[in-house]
Amino acid sequence: MPTRIRPLATILLLVLAAATGDTVPVDWAMVAKIREEGLQHSQVMEYESYIADVLGARLTNSEDMQRAQLWLEGTMKQIGLVGVAAEPFMDYGVTWDNEYVSLQMLEPDYAPMVAYPIAYTRGTDGRQVAQAVIVDVQVRGDLEKYRGTLRGMAVLSTPPAPIDMTPLINGVPRRTQAELDSLQRVVIAPARPAPPRAVRNPELLTPEEKLAFFQAEGVTVVLQCESGWLGAVRGYGRPGARADGWSRLGMLASPVVVAVTPEHYNRMYRILKRGIPVKVEVEVRNRIGEQVEQAANVVGEIPGTDLKDQVVIIGAHFDTWQASPNASDNTSGVAVALEAMRILKVVGARPRRTIRVVLWGGEEQGLFGSRAYVNQHFGNPFDSTVGVKPGYEKLSVYFNQDYGPGQYQGIYLQGNEQARAMLTAWMAPFADFGMTVVSNQSVGSTDHVSFDEVGLPGFQFLQDRVPGGGGHTNLDFYDTVPGQDLMKNAVVMASYAYHAAMADTRVPRKSVR
Ligand SMILES: [Zn+2]
Repeated sequence: MPTRIRPLATILLLVLAAATGDTVPVDWAMVAKIREEGLQHSQVMEYESYIADVLGARLTNSEDMQRAQLWLEGTMKQIGLVGVAAEPFMDYGVTWDNEYVSLQMLEPDYAPMVAYPIAYTRGTDGRQVAQAVIVDVQVRGDLEKYRGTLRGMAVLSTPPAPIDMTPLINGVPRRTQAELDSLQRVVIAPARPAPPRAVRNPELLTPEEKLAFFQAEGVTVVLQCESGWLGAVRGYGRPGARADGWSRLGMLASPVVVAVTPEHYNRMYRILKRGIPVKVEVEVRNRIGEQVEQAANVVGEIPGTDLKDQVVIIGAHFDTWQASPNASDNTSGVAVALEAMRILKVVGARPRRTIRVVLWGGEEQGLFGSRAYVNQHFGNPFDSTVGVKPGYEKLSVYFNQDYGPGQYQGIYLQGNEQARAMLTAWMAPFADFGMTVVSNQSVGSTDHVSFDEVGLPGFQFLQDRVPGGGGHTNLDFYDTVPGQDLMKNAVVMASYAYHAAMADTRVPRKSVR
């Protein structure tokens, strides 16, 4: 009776299909140990506090960073990791460290100003007092009206920055259930409209040209404010620093450049606009290294057993910008990765594959540490100058945290449908954390990209948005990092690393393009 058998066969097939979809095993006994250690005996905020409070800011290739990496190596050894090392990845120019900064308005009213030097710039010759002046140079023709008038001046070089009040009015938009649902359900990313082609006015001055002009004119200090975030100083590296290879010459040939909070900057600007003179006192001491040094990633591992030449990597970037410890970006990711390794050691994990933690350098300047590491250890099949290294077949997967300190609510598949079954199954023990979303979307701007772009499985967790956290400002400290979120994240990170290290197969890769 074929007509009656067919529905039965179909049902059987469906049952079988459902069963095979469930065959990715979850080691609930190990998950229990990991949860117990990570939730009841967590050390994650100890790591967070030591790094953010004691070590502080860690600009790539600063003496601050070198000191911090020594601590990191010591801590990895304390945890019981082996093969602990700082692996140099490139010549990274000379070191740059800010030792001291002070900016005061002296007239018409005394006021201390909150300000930080832009990285890779030089300091002042001691304490300087200078008249402030608004300078608006956009195109070449603008230079003439200022030429010969700026010697010894404190230049307000950017327009006033309107302050953005929306975070105060609306609060921080936590992810809503509707948003999480849509992250899961929107499986075909809407085509992005091509950005309009900017027609660049050849007369327009580049940031490098503006700085060169100020330097040639002998200004005392270039003041700037490029963001209207409340109370926050935002400002990174000197334009042109990367092009000159973070060279000592480039740093010494730069003017002194100081970024100021919008409130303080705008106040000086408004006074000057009234025609009332503003006098400031400024002192900046930046320590600039003598010779080119190598920047490094720091690695440590738990060796595998029968598949020990294969590797599962977890990580986060250890480097920061210079104006705060960057407790959220990305001290929080580092604390989670360290804590995940500590948990695995404490519960006595004996992974089949080697589990390695790599804490990157050079991320903030453009993923330099992770890209160099991937090229060196795994290679790149899409770049014949790099080629494929034997290690390429030995990597199972890389897991990254770098979207702030909020708790994991899911994971982005990065378009890797082949990995869906594994990454989904391993999420099951964390439904009570609210970790439920598998989004097939691809996300960028951090170190998993270095793996994904060469065809290796690299993933970033989908994280909640949380209040606080300075986003590369002077305001990113321990106080606003949510400890419970980091505890949960370390548990998840440890469990994912463990399951990937124990699986019968590597985490599958995307089909070859
Ligand atoms: Zn980051």
